[in-house]
Amino acid sequence: MIIKNGLVFNENCVFEKKDIYIENGIIVSSLDEVSDKTEIDANGNYVIPGLIDTHIHGATGHDFCDKDVSGLLSIAKYLKSQGITAFCPTSMTLKKDLLKEIFNTATTDLPKECANIVGIHMEGPFLSSAKKGAQDDKFIINPEINLFKELNEACNNMIKIITMAPECEGGLEFIKEMSKTVSVSLGHTTASYDIAKQAYDLGATRATHLFNAMPPFNHREPSVVGAALDNENTFVEIICDGIHIHPSMIRATFKMFGDDRVILVSDAMMATGMENGTYELGGQEVTMKDRKATLADGTIAGSATNLFDCMRKAVSFGIPLESAIKACTKNPAESINIFDKMGSISTGKVANIVIMDKDLNIKNII
Ligand SMILES: [Zn+2]
Repeated sequence: MIIKNGLVFNENCVFEKKDIYIENGIIVSSLDEVSDKTEIDANGNYVIPGLIDTHIHGATGHDFCDKDVSGLLSIAKYLKSQGITAFCPTSMTLKKDLLKEIFNTATTDLPKECANIVGIHMEGPFLSSAKKGAQDDKFIINPEINLFKELNEACNNMIKIITMAPECEGGLEFIKEMSKTVSVSLGHTTASYDIAKQAYDLGATRATHLFNAMPPFNHREPSVVGAALDNENTFVEIICDGIHIHPSMIRATFKMFGDDRVILVSDAMMATGMENGTYELGGQEVTMKDRKATLADGTIAGSATNLFDCMRKAVSFGIPLESAIKACTKNPAESINIFDKMGSISTGKVANIVIMDKDLNIKNII
């Protein structure tokens, strides 16, 4: 297959007029290597890598934690139809045995019409009750290395990210031992700057939905935000649905961290892709009205938008298009060590490609 006449988002994260050659689902360097010479005319539109959502609980009325394979397929199908070609299904804070069953449903072997599962994001149960957000504190526990190992082994090491609170008893020991195995993301935490800095020095590499469910970036108490900023190897997630974070803070985050370190995530729950109504997240009732999802007490409970809409929102807030695309493709891929396979339009990588017009409407998904 050949994609012609496109304005291609290239490896250097700038747009360039060029053709793309694909053989057996992989991008190749020349026309000679292509056996099926079917042409797709991009008509001068943008050609970008498929988006990668590393923090998503559900969509289309289904949640990863339903431990229902057909529900997970429905989520994966919806994501692909929206230009999100890979994702990390994200679990809520639940009991060990239930988590084990949930993780068993995550398979890399999905039909072609589905987005790829590229790992599990385990959000909890090693969190701080004081910053639980929409997590159920009945199941919050202190970090346990053996429990994590047991869960990860039971799902063939599919866990790529763990969101945890480093200040909990055993938190720093956990990070020291496990950060070589899994990307440790600080979140749902009351950690001070000093504790967060220790966590990053010990190998944590990420912050979960920066600003949400953590102490604010205060001038004398800079918290996780300041510690993440001071550690150059750290990626930060932001939920760019226009509800969780003020547009000014989105602009500030890109300026502070630079567009190499920001990862846009949806943190979507099952109401994504659905009408206003009552839904569920981690066993708690959630009301979704006009894309805002809340618990009965008003706590924001995940988002009801998808990552492509988050990218459009970021651009509408004044983030340069190239930076917004990077934050949905290259950066998430690098953050979970899959950038050698996907996350850019480069020779040898999986041809997960989206064609979109100048108004960021999707024209084709390959
Ligand atoms: Zn979440």
